[in-house]
Amino acid sequence: MRLSRYFLPILRETPKEADIVSHRLMLRAGMLRQEAAGIYAFLPLGLRVLKKICDIVRQEQDRAGAIELLMPNIQSAELWRESGRYDDYGKEMLRIKDRHERDLLFGPTNEEMITEIFRAYVRSYKDLPLNLYHIQWKFRDEIRPRFGLMRGREFLMKDAYSFDLDYAGSKHAYNRMFVAYLRTFARLGLKSIPMVAESGPIGGSLSHEFIILASTGESEVFCHRDYLDFPVPGEDVDFNDVAGLQAIVDKWTSLYAATSEKHEADKFAKLPADKQMSARGIEVGHIFHFGTKYSEPMKAVVNGPDGAEHAVHMGSYGIGPSRLVAALIEAFHDDAGIKWPEPVAPFKVVILNLKQGDSATDQASENVYGELSAKGVEVLYHDLDERPGSKFATADLIGVPYQVLIGPKGLAAGTIEVKRRIDGSRENLSPAAAVDLLTR
Ligand code: ATP
Ligand code: MG
Repeated sequence: MRLSRYFLPILRETPKEADIVSHRLMLRAGMLRQEAAGIYAFLPLGLRVLKKICDIVRQEQDRAGAIELLMPNIQSAELWRESGRYDDYGKEMLRIKDRHERDLLFGPTNEEMITEIFRAYVRSYKDLPLNLYHIQWKFRDEIRPRFGLMRGREFLMKDAYSFDLDYAGSKHAYNRMFVAYLRTFARLGLKSIPMVAESGPIGGSLSHEFIILASTGESEVFCHRDYLDFPVPGEDVDFNDVAGLQAIVDKWTSLYAATSEKHEADKFAKLPADKQMSARGIEVGHIFHFGTKYSEPMKAVVNGPDGAEHAVHMGSYGIGPSRLVAALIEAFHDDAGIKWPEPVAPFKVVILNLKQGDSATDQASENVYGELSAKGVEVLYHDLDERPGSKFATADLIGVPYQVLIGPKGLAAGTIEVKRRIDGSRENLSPAAAVDLLTR
């Protein structure tokens, strides 16, 4: 992508409305535009990151056996009356009337709708287990939308819903998602800790929030320090191995970890002093097991092996990809800007032509740009006529992992410079060696 043909509205000034660093940096880096309180447009650079996050989320959901579909934003109030939540949900639900005066709502979550889909088609325990998910915009009319994408009113959610014949089956479904979440956040470059959590309006008794530690996090959390060093299950983890998954979940729940709502101070105080970690965290995922809470009132039943009808046992599993964009920036930035981990970076490489209009630097920049593009590397070419200092500032701000600096001095010596954004380290290389490094 040539910057001269791209849409990257960089702000030089620090926007006043933003009170945490991720929000500030997103506005400055031209990723995001506020359209109303808690409602944002993703600009091209922001959208690239959001898509990368969704891709990883999707891959790990698929690996764990979940199946993607797509449900609508707008739901009928009827469904919510069946479960009894239409009145319970309160003001967070945006209620709408259509031209026929029918009650509709903008979905804050999808337990009712997925249960309706399930009961329309599934009759037999032989069709189980089933886990269906989608990645779709939600609306919750939060009292205090704030911190940009962290707590929006319209936000993106991956929500999965599992269906099983009995408790044992649904516990395994829960464990699958638990392990998939550990893997998902690790692949995004984040260290997540599952914590015992309140289940809130979704309901149910078993629930974990996946928290990443960050000083700007909204949640107050308490946990054993050793969680930070626990190994995350690898790609080869067998999601059908019931005992194997249970062992992983047992290990990851063996030590103390709770959000403030579930905190038990006396238990925590019994940990060795150097293992007690009380910190702030960001909730990036939340999983719930709620058994037959929706299947009973909504009559989602299957015929069991005993010939009798059974209300299915369910769970639901949420991840917030739009909140994750912000959470990643909270975890990876410095004073100059964002430092994207490679798996979620909007581009892998940015080429800075330090003397635009000079035939040698133009030619060398075009060559490197052409070669990297041809090899499928996502590369942004800063081809505007700006001072080097301004190009450096832009590159540091947008946080692309590799910067390739192409200037007359280096070229005279046959080299270009590759700078890694993560640690600022630099190398002078021949253009061929640089291309080689960046395509590895
Ligand atoms: P919170 O406790 O932060 O209000 P929640 O418990 O109400 O969130 P869930 O229903 O568990 O949220 O939603 C699943 C995931 O969706 C959360 O873990 C989070 O990543 C994301 N999410 C929830 N609310 C918001 C929001 N207002 N803005 C952005 N992401 C959100
Ligand atoms: Mg939650």
